[in-house]
Amino acid sequence: MNFLSLIEAKREGKTLAPEEIQNFIRGFTAGKIPDYQMAALLMAIYFRGLNSAETTALTLAMRDSGNILKFPKDTRPLVDKHSTGGIGDKVSLPLAPLLACLGFRVPMISGRGLGITGGTLDKLDSIPGFQALLPAEKIIVQVQKIGCVICGQTDTMVPADKKIYALRDASGTVPSIPLIVASILSKKLAENLDALILDVKFGCAAFMQTKSDARKLAKAMVALGSQCGVSTRAILTDMNTPLGRAAGNWLEVKESVECLENKGPDDLRELVLICAAHLLVQTRKAKNFRAAKKIAEDCLNSGAPRKKFDEMLIAQGADVKAFNHKLKSDSTAPVVVELKSPRAGFISKCDARIIGEVIRDLGGGRLTKDSQINYDVGVDEIAKSSERIEKSQTLCRIHACDKSQAKEVLHRIQTAFEISAKRPAKIPLVVEMI
Ligand code: URA
Repeated sequence: MNFLSLIEAKREGKTLAPEEIQNFIRGFTAGKIPDYQMAALLMAIYFRGLNSAETTALTLAMRDSGNILKFPKDTRPLVDKHSTGGIGDKVSLPLAPLLACLGFRVPMISGRGLGITGGTLDKLDSIPGFQALLPAEKIIVQVQKIGCVICGQTDTMVPADKKIYALRDASGTVPSIPLIVASILSKKLAENLDALILDVKFGCAAFMQTKSDARKLAKAMVALGSQCGVSTRAILTDMNTPLGRAAGNWLEVKESVECLENKGPDDLRELVLICAAHLLVQTRKAKNFRAAKKIAEDCLNSGAPRKKFDEMLIAQGADVKAFNHKLKSDSTAPVVVELKSPRAGFISKCDARIIGEVIRDLGGGRLTKDSQINYDVGVDEIAKSSERIEKSQTLCRIHACDKSQAKEVLHRIQTAFEISAKRPAKIPLVVEMI
């Protein structure tokens, strides 16, 4: 293969043949194409794009670069959810055990956070003893036995994406719709799913800043997922404001448990139920969305998913006694300070990007892939958009490593909130379904 001619062809806006795409993915995964040439091709794709046949070929070649999970035949459909990521987005944690209790099998392969958006695995790593990395055989055994697993990608799953994602990250080629589609769907297709729900976020703290870009990404993923035989739906959700009232790794685990114990917060509970309801409809386990949501709600109210969560944690090595003990502490960070409202009114803005940046700088997120995470820092008791607030009432609490760090971020986090005299309209949680 003359890789240089492929780079030149894409640079000139020409279409690549499926065999050419399969060959360069095979060559790159095998270490036969240098990073500098692959980075040049990624940049050409960034500017010239890929048509839908090229995107399909790239996705399938990436999926086939490693092993695909093979589950035994079973009446329980294989389902998963993927979110493009946001601040306080902890939906996967309560959703996986809920889905298992609804009669699904959930091989939820998740990622770590980079930048301001948190990663599901980082959150789970804050649970004593929890093992996020499992071999493929163990993933299959656990899903068959318990119904759900939340774990990282194995070394043999979609190795092409691991290598390409690292290069995209270092070459400024992450925000390309065909590359995002291929990256996300190659991993989801390697799970061998029957149905997939995608939560595509837009707004100041999301990957896609505008609704129209989020819609483009969602449409491309739904079309390709469906074409590959997976019932795929997407919801577009707002990420200008955090989801729930807590953000930061351990604080989000705590809030997920509250959701599983039916103690709120409302927006998190609603999004968990919406994702579950779509999957029930997609797999024909419910007649329509309304009936499906009621089934999901009854199941969550029964308390079974809370028990299932512990069951999943135990299967993945967690010390559940220590975990339940840790849940009782108000905070595991050395210092907690409250931000008080300077006046009475209504919350007209709670900027998710500022909150995400503050948490990252407290040590709760990664600046580079090798950064060490502090699981205990974060922000909770966040006052939500359109809520009434009184003078001196808490706008949020900051969990920090020390007093000086808390003082420094207190100043910055103040700028995340705006208070108005009139109650602003509530922003809908789900803006569109595709
Ligand atoms: N998440 C992924 O897994 N890949 C992307 O390209 C973007 C987000």
